[in-house]
Amino acid sequence: MSDAEQPTETDPDGEFNPSAPNTGEKFEPVDVFPDSDDFDLRPGSDSCYKCSTCDTNCPVAEVDDEFPGPKFQGPEQWRLKQRDDEHEIDDSVMDCSNCMRCDNACPAGVPLSQMHNTARGEYVSEQMDKTSIEYWRNRILSNYRTSAWLASKLPRLANVAMNVTKEREFPEFATETFREWWDKRGAAAGSKERAQAARRERGLPEDADKKVAYFHGCYSNYNTTEVGKAMVRVYEHFGYEVVVPEQKCSGTPMFANGMLDDARRHAEVNVSSMSDLVDQGYDAIASCTSCSMALRQEYPELFDIPGIDDVAANTFESLEYLRIHEDLQGELAEVEVSGDLAEEFAYHAPCHARNQGLERQALELFRDVDGVGIEDVGESCSGISGTYGWKAEKYEKSMEIGEEMFEHMEHAEGDTGMTECPTCAMQMEHGTGYDIRHPLELLEAALVDGRGV
Ligand code: SF4
Ligand code: SF4
Repeated sequence: MSDAEQPTETDPDGEFNPSAPNTGEKFEPVDVFPDSDDFDLRPGSDSCYKCSTCDTNCPVAEVDDEFPGPKFQGPEQWRLKQRDDEHEIDDSVMDCSNCMRCDNACPAGVPLSQMHNTARGEYVSEQMDKTSIEYWRNRILSNYRTSAWLASKLPRLANVAMNVTKEREFPEFATETFREWWDKRGAAAGSKERAQAARRERGLPEDADKKVAYFHGCYSNYNTTEVGKAMVRVYEHFGYEVVVPEQKCSGTPMFANGMLDDARRHAEVNVSSMSDLVDQGYDAIASCTSCSMALRQEYPELFDIPGIDDVAANTFESLEYLRIHEDLQGELAEVEVSGDLAEEFAYHAPCHARNQGLERQALELFRDVDGVGIEDVGESCSGISGTYGWKAEKYEKSMEIGEEMFEHMEHAEGDTGMTECPTCAMQMEHGTGYDIRHPLELLEAALVDGRGV
């Protein structure tokens, strides 16, 4: 079936069409791209007063003496570039993991990660050898579906051909994708019925304005489908109608690898489908903190796409949104968790959750819930930063960065981890052997009956 014939959940006018079937094949990467825009970053650069706080907060600079740090990658390179247009971007920009901790650390609000992303994009498009193994490895790694599928089928070949570390195993692909499950379950029409039933039970008007568009991202679609299912069930429990629009990768791995044209192409699809729904009163919800970060910060910083500001302003992380709109604490105070999630959790806040001010949300939510415990394992970066820790030459540094988190996890009461980021979850599991759960899974276990539906 061609792309044009592919059924989607929006009609030709862009209106949401709940009766249309939804297939996983629509969630495919595309590799033909226009050029990215050139933004003026001078005002941000001029705000830098060289305090070096960003450098002391950079996890890569801490373990890699060769890495010059965020101040050099951002304001200093930018000034050099402004003085001399021929100035070449230093190749060390490729060693930045795009954890974005420097953004959070800077007291002057210098847009460091925007500068790094812009410089990395320029380095890759103008200076990087397009025949090099590194270029193609990064390109394949940035395209999660292709790289993870290839590596799950042919792990040895992937390790050698892609220069990916042999220390890690690529995650298993689910036998049924989240989108296939969603479609079988009745897609948006089924969700509407369930949401209306929940509203009746809660004494809410059946036509209450509770509707969200779910941005599941790659990992919840192909690997941890249980997170996507938990998101849907929890939101329906509170009476929300969920829709799952056409979408592509958020672009997070592409930003980190300087593939800005790829990221733009994906962002155009995501913004287009989300902005149609935002116009119809939906809010965009992501269960991965890097996806919500991309939609609300990186897209408007790097791209000029119609509707992008409205999408950014109406995008939320999944727990964040429920905490704003529902009495989650109140409902959780009434329940006791039993079964396989009655656990003590070692919680790690992903760097991208910190950037959105969400690092305490799971701790605050679950600390008083009967039957479970939750403990913060500290402020350190997990070290994997998306594709960074998969690269053969970065693996040791990635593990060195993660060491503090592993130690804290091992000293924590429980031996199950919790985080909102799928790649942090991989690193936590890799460094400790623990099972890792998403907060949505615990919310589902606490609040939703009949998890089989
Ligand atoms: S994004 Fe992270 S790795 Fe990159 S310079 Fe900033 S703190 Fe360092
Ligand atoms: S923390 Fe901000 S002001 Fe301080 S050196 Fe870094 S970019 Fe400049």
